[in-house]
Amino acid sequence: MLSFNTRLTPVDLSSLTPDSLNANTIPDGLAGIDIGIRPCRRSGPNLSACETGRQLIIHNYGHGGAGWSLSHGSVLHALSLFEARKCNKQAPVTIVGAGVMGLLTSLYLHERGYRNLEIVASEFEGITSCRSTGYYAPLAMSLNNEKQQAFINDIGFKTFSTFQAIEQGEHPLFKRGISPVHVYAGVGGYSESILDTETGLEPYVEQGLLPEPVLGEIDFGNGQKHIMRRFQTYFMNTPGIMEELNELLDQKGIRRTQKTVHDFGELKSDIVFNCSGIGGQQLNHDNNVHPNLGILLLLKQPDMGALHYIIYTRYRSPLSDSDHDNYIYFMPRGNGLLGATFIPNNDGTDEAENLKQIHRIVFENKAFFGT
Ligand SMILES: Cc1cc2nc3c(=O)[nH]c(=O)nc-3n(C[C@H](O)[C@H](O)[C@H](O)COP(=O)(O)OP(=O)(O)OC[C@H]3O[C@@H](n4cnc5c(N)ncnc54)[C@H](O)[C@@H]3O)c2cc1C
Repeated sequence: MLSFNTRLTPVDLSSLTPDSLNANTIPDGLAGIDIGIRPCRRSGPNLSACETGRQLIIHNYGHGGAGWSLSHGSVLHALSLFEARKCNKQAPVTIVGAGVMGLLTSLYLHERGYRNLEIVASEFEGITSCRSTGYYAPLAMSLNNEKQQAFINDIGFKTFSTFQAIEQGEHPLFKRGISPVHVYAGVGGYSESILDTETGLEPYVEQGLLPEPVLGEIDFGNGQKHIMRRFQTYFMNTPGIMEELNELLDQKGIRRTQKTVHDFGELKSDIVFNCSGIGGQQLNHDNNVHPNLGILLLLKQPDMGALHYIIYTRYRSPLSDSDHDNYIYFMPRGNGLLGATFIPNNDGTDEAENLKQIHRIVFENKAFFGT
């Protein structure tokens, strides 16, 4: 039985044609194309403490496609490993990395009274944390067993409850960027192309943190209708949150230095938080870290007010020759974006493959939205 029938404004892709897509130019219908790399790690993120010579290194990297969804919980876990060592609050602490993990680590340390803090990063702009789409759902990680999944759920639930406090205006430090959103996902048996989809939200529904999904029909008003499950989650406006975190760092006078670290030993401080994302592969000689390619098409939709929803569904296009799972993936970030690819061990340098994926995304989304 269908529980809802919703008229949704479709994403307008009428100005994007296969001919307008080539390797060298951005077509009129797009604001840009983003080639993102998820920092995946076999067995899940490295959240551990390790003592090497004079230094205590707290690792916090390798969150794959879930770094934002696991952000606060991961940082709080890393801090619990650190605080168990009872270090002097005046001791110099270096945080390597200026993504969501590095910035949150610095701010939480400052809140707890640590004052001698420095963030060191190769890049502060254009990094993976600025490219995230903002779907609250711990997805795209390489987990091997139930124990790892239970740990991810634990740090995810902590992050989720932090976002609840932010959304309700009850968090003492963080105020911005979290809003509730509906997610439409496929359900098996109703359509040949839209497939049953795991959303990453299932543990949250089971835990009672999110409502049960409901089955219904979305109608784009142009003849295109789909039967799907509707979930609820948070949309994280990641550029807005990064802006807030940087403003807070300025207010608290936390130092930032642009520099690539090649070896922890070159850092003067005895306490180091390693929040280097994909950089953990080289910096910590960690062969479990690998890139997972996420290509995004940045749209120019004129009325984002009508498009505050997420589509996240596996999709089987009759014309696709891809051997990967394909997705219809629309996110209401900026002026809308389409994606995303989830291609393991691909660092985005193969331009011919990228172009093939871009064509696929446009072709399949035009079919899905009917525009
Ligand atoms: C296309 C795409 C979509 C995504 N969508 C979502 C989503 O919807 N929801 C979600 O939860 N997650 C999503 N993610 C994943 C999320 O963005 C990442 O997991 C998260 O941003 C990782 O944050 P981080 O701080 O660990 O790393 P990063 O943001 O990569 O930051 C790493 C920092 O370390 C620095 N660094 C690296 N090596 C060194 C070194 N040797 N010396 C000095 N500095 C160094 C870098 O310069 C950078 O400042 C997405 C990712 C991509 C690519």
